[in-house]
Amino acid sequence: MITTNYLVIGSGVAGLTFAVKIAEEFSDKNITVITKSNEDESNTKYAQGGVAVVLDKEEDSYQKHIQDTLIAGDGLCNATVVDMVIKEGPKRFKELIHWGANFDIDTNGNYDLGKEGGHSEYRVVHHKDITGYEIERALLQRVHQLKNVTLLPHHFAIDLITEHHLNIVNPIHLSCYGAYVLDENTGDILTIKAKNTVLASGGIGNIYGHTTNPVIATGDGIAMAYRAKAQIQDMEFIQFHPTVLYDEKGGSSFLISEAVRGFGAYLRDKSGHRFMPDYDSRAELASRDIVSQCIDKELKKSGEDNVYLDCTHLDTDSFKEHFPNIYDKCKSLGIDIAKDWIPVVPASHYLCGGIVVDKNGKTSINNLFSCGEATRTGLHGANRLASNSLLEALVYAHNIYKYLITQESDETFYEIPVWNEKGVTITKDHVLIQHNLKKLQTLMRNYAGIVRNNNQLNEAKNLLEIIYKEIDELYQTVKVNTPLCELRNMINVAHLIITDSLTRNNNKGGYYNIDNL
Ligand SMILES: Cc1cc2nc3c(=O)[nH]c(=O)nc-3n(C[C@H](O)[C@H](O)[C@H](O)COP(=O)(O)OP(=O)(O)OC[C@H]3O[C@@H](n4cnc5c(N)ncnc54)[C@H](O)[C@@H]3O)c2cc1C
Repeated sequence: MITTNYLVIGSGVAGLTFAVKIAEEFSDKNITVITKSNEDESNTKYAQGGVAVVLDKEEDSYQKHIQDTLIAGDGLCNATVVDMVIKEGPKRFKELIHWGANFDIDTNGNYDLGKEGGHSEYRVVHHKDITGYEIERALLQRVHQLKNVTLLPHHFAIDLITEHHLNIVNPIHLSCYGAYVLDENTGDILTIKAKNTVLASGGIGNIYGHTTNPVIATGDGIAMAYRAKAQIQDMEFIQFHPTVLYDEKGGSSFLISEAVRGFGAYLRDKSGHRFMPDYDSRAELASRDIVSQCIDKELKKSGEDNVYLDCTHLDTDSFKEHFPNIYDKCKSLGIDIAKDWIPVVPASHYLCGGIVVDKNGKTSINNLFSCGEATRTGLHGANRLASNSLLEALVYAHNIYKYLITQESDETFYEIPVWNEKGVTITKDHVLIQHNLKKLQTLMRNYAGIVRNNNQLNEAKNLLEIIYKEIDELYQTVKVNTPLCELRNMINVAHLIITDSLTRNNNKGGYYNIDNL
């Protein structure tokens, strides 16, 4: 049994920001950060475009950023939350600088501001096209300087501990007491007991197979919170990134940042027709959902596997300077962006919904907080404005910290049982897990993807039930392992996506069902 003051699940921007802040505040309290892979593996590490933040108050204003966010959210944002997050932005950005993150500077010595789809002004601070990598680097460096933070890589959170595990029947309020965690190095299941738990476990991209997210994005935190009976909302709002590098094999795909379209690239079909102006006056700079749906329509019309991003009319040296990572990746695949069009398709990218939290990052379960992509704060509504997610993670990590420093610790002592492994066997059935994972991903792509309909969603529900039963049976009888837990979590999350999709009867932002037309 490990006892800690603060258990943080996840080492992306959300979890690490909270850990740094609370550790700096309370040198006498211990913070345990667990993370299921290497310490830096996270969606954060792959963020390219940057952080949307209003710094230039002459051209830009909070009001413009607020307006852009509300437009993208298609009427479903919480206006108070939008106002709060955007106005907090500059302060949170300065903290990142303070912790040692570097951002690009323009020739006048100001922060170089990028512009992305849906933004009316240049306001995206960035570090070349590897902004997330730089933020993750700086936060990890700071965490390692703090003696009261213990960072445990390859520790997989299986379930949150609540009254359910304490055998308290019909509790008046649900509370979280920490988590059961699989130490992947030893196979042991640890009980980590914590006064406060912060779920910062990120997104769900891998549920769709074709995704910009790393394979660790399996919605574990959302599934754990759901099983613990926390409120979850808006799971139908999944953002598909319009332009990932087309790879016929599928899997985790390389993202061609929105900023490339902001830089002037055109979307063309195979014949060379620039099709976005046919659909939207903003053309390639329309918001992500619009661009993804337009590409989906073009692909369905033509039967082709991909469309193209044309950068051949752009200044190549300047492109190289802004997007060295993208330039090199294309080059490594024999695509010379000065002469060749880049083959692209949409892929699952970001979840707007998730665990419901209030402005202090509190979930509906006592002592359980959440921040980052795992949450539904009300900022994104039906669709996230590009580069608002790193911002949201920074702001909510700060808000949880601010709330917790004003709270008295609850010193009630509970006896927490160890994980029960009685009667389980070691599985050799990895094929069953892999096979069902592929089935799940195909199901979600085909029946609960960019353009949905009720027949297919109902079919998805039935097929999911079969996968659920098979995996649940396995889960009850074998010693748990990470791939099995991840698949179990993805099944829970898929269930939430399908159910919320069937409930919504109007198309909004990232949600598009042809039966609602
Ligand atoms: C390719 C790409 C480009 C992007 N570009 C931008 C951008 O330019 N601007 C922007 O604002 N946003 C961008 N985003 C989105 C943004 O990166 C994420 O929303 C944000 O980084 C999420 O941060 P997080 O801390 O919530 O989650 P993550 O960074 O994903 O971290 C989650 C952490 O939780 C851990 N974890 C998960 N489950 C468990 C478990 N069961 N047990 C233990 N640990 C667990 C993971 O290992 C990881 O450490 C991009 C995303 C991608 C994938």
